[in-house]
Amino acid sequence: MDYKTLAERLLPGNYPDLEFYEKKYPPRDLPKGAQVTRLAPSPTGFIHLGNLFAAIANERIAHQSGGVLYLRIEDTDLKRKVDGAVEAVKNALRYFDIKFDEGAEIGGDDTYAPWYQRQRAEIYRAFVKHLIEIGRAYPCFCSEEELERLREEQTEKKEITGYYGKYAKCRNLTEEDIYQNLDAGKPFVIRLKSMGNPENKIKFRDAIKGEITVTENNQDVVILKSDGIPTYHFAHAIDDHFMRTTLVIRGEEWLASLPIHIELFDVLGFERPRYGHNCSLMKQDGETRRKLSKRKDPELSLEFYRKEGYYARAVKVYMLTLLNSNFEEWYLKNPEKTLEEFKFTAEKMSKSGTLFDIDKLNDISKNELSKLTAEEMFEFLQTWAEEFGGETQKGYFEDRGKMLKVLTLCMGIGGKKRRKDFTTASQAMDFIKYFFERPENYDEYRVPDETRKPILKSFLVKYDPADDSQVWFTKIKEIAAENGFAAEMKDYKTAPEAYKGSVSDVAEVLRIATTGKANTPDLWTIQQILGEEETKERIQRATA
Ligand code: GLU
Repeated sequence: MDYKTLAERLLPGNYPDLEFYEKKYPPRDLPKGAQVTRLAPSPTGFIHLGNLFAAIANERIAHQSGGVLYLRIEDTDLKRKVDGAVEAVKNALRYFDIKFDEGAEIGGDDTYAPWYQRQRAEIYRAFVKHLIEIGRAYPCFCSEEELERLREEQTEKKEITGYYGKYAKCRNLTEEDIYQNLDAGKPFVIRLKSMGNPENKIKFRDAIKGEITVTENNQDVVILKSDGIPTYHFAHAIDDHFMRTTLVIRGEEWLASLPIHIELFDVLGFERPRYGHNCSLMKQDGETRRKLSKRKDPELSLEFYRKEGYYARAVKVYMLTLLNSNFEEWYLKNPEKTLEEFKFTAEKMSKSGTLFDIDKLNDISKNELSKLTAEEMFEFLQTWAEEFGGETQKGYFEDRGKMLKVLTLCMGIGGKKRRKDFTTASQAMDFIKYFFERPENYDEYRVPDETRKPILKSFLVKYDPADDSQVWFTKIKEIAAENGFAAEMKDYKTAPEAYKGSVSDVAEVLRIATTGKANTPDLWTIQQILGEEETKERIQRATA
C-alpha cells in the first residue's frame, strides 16, 4: 500500500515536519526535579470534588518542586460542551486558591499555547498524517449502526467489545476498497493500527499505586474523528508531550485506558510523563461503600461548597487529610504553619478508595472557623452574602460595629473557650439571624403559657439596659422567686416539688422570647447588642 499517497488523500495539505513542533515547543528550562503538572478538565460545566482532589495534588507537586501547573481545556467533545464552563472551572478553583502558572484564560507564559484542544487541531492532524504515512493508522468507514451491531455480536459471544483483531474490518481494506469508499464520499474516522497483544503484560510504575501490571493494548482506537478533531486519548498524548508535562495525576477511571496511552506514546516516539492514578472518592451508604455520584450526592459538585459557603481552607485541609496519609499528624503538630509548608508526595497518596465523610469535613470546618478573628469572619461571611445571600442578609453587614459584636460573642472570642458553632457561611448566617431579624418561630418553652406571661411582664417592669450582667441576673432571680420558681438551683434540687421550676426555666423563657431559640450564647450580651427598644419589643411580642 502506498501510505504516503493515502495520507495525502485523507489529510491533504502541507503540514510542517514533526521536528518543527519539537522546536516550537522546546523542553522547559526548569531546575532539575521540577515537575510540570496540569489540570485538564473537559468543559462540561460540572466540576467536582475529584477535580479538586487532583488539582490540589498537582498544584502541590508542581509548586513544591519549583515547577509549573497549567490549565488545559479538553474540549474535543462538542456534545458535552457547555457555555461558561471555563469560567465555572476557574471560579471553582480560584475559590480553593489553586494557583495556575499558565493556561486557558490564565495569562502567564504562552510558549506552549494554545490551551484549548480545539485550537490545536493542526498539530494533531500533522501527527495523524504521519502515523498514516508510516502505516500505523488507517481510515475506518464503519457506520454507527455497524459498530453497534459489532458490539451486540461481541456481547452475545461474551467477547471483549471494541474494534480489534479480526473484528477490525477496515484494518484490512485493500487500497482499492479505500479509494472506492473515499470516491463515494463516505465519512471516515482514523484509527490507530495497534500492534499490541493482550496476552503480553507490561509492568508499569504508577506514581501513586506503585508497581502495577497492565496488559498490552490491541484496540484500534479512533484517534481522529470524522470532524477532523482527535479523541481525548490522542490529543492528551500530543499535548502532554508538547506542553512538556512530567507528571499526570488523574482519576483512576483512566487506568483502563492506560494501555492505549502507552501504545500511543510509543508509536509517536514520545517519552511518557509519569502517571499517578488517584483513587476514587467513596461514600458510606448504609452498609456499603460506593463512589460519590453526580445524581445522588450534591456534595460531589464544587458548586455545593461555594453555595453553602464552606471555608475554602477547611475543605483543603480535609482534602489534604485524605490525600496524604501523614498530613493529619503533621497538621496537629504544626497548626500555625501554612498548608504550603507540608511536604506533599505522590507516594503517600492513598492507593485504593478513599472515604469522603461530610461529617468529618464539618468538624474540620468548625475548627478552622473557630480560629478566625471577628474581622476575618466578617470578611468571609460578607463575601459569601454578596454572592449567595438574600437582600436582608446583605443588610446584616451595614452596621459593622454590631456585626463584629455579634461575631465576637458567637465565636466566644475573649471568653474562656472558643465556641465552635459555625460550620459554613450559610449556616452561620442562619445562626446569627436573630440578631438582625425578629424571630418568626419559637423553640418550645418548658414553661406553660399561663406561667410564662407573668415572667415576661415582670421582666419588662424590671428591665434596665444600664444594668451590668450581675445586676441583670439578680433581677432574673427576683422574677423567679416572685413567680414561684426557685431562685437558686440548689434549692430547687433539694425540693423540686415546692417550685414551678428553677431560675434556669425563667432564663429560658426570656431567651426564647428574645431570640426564638432555646440555645444561645450569653443572653445579657445578646440583649445589650439588640439594644433597649428591640429587646422590649421582642419581649412584648412574646407576651402577646
Ligand atoms: N479531560 C479529562 C477529564 O476531564 C482529563 C483526564 C486527564 O486528566 O488526563 O476527565
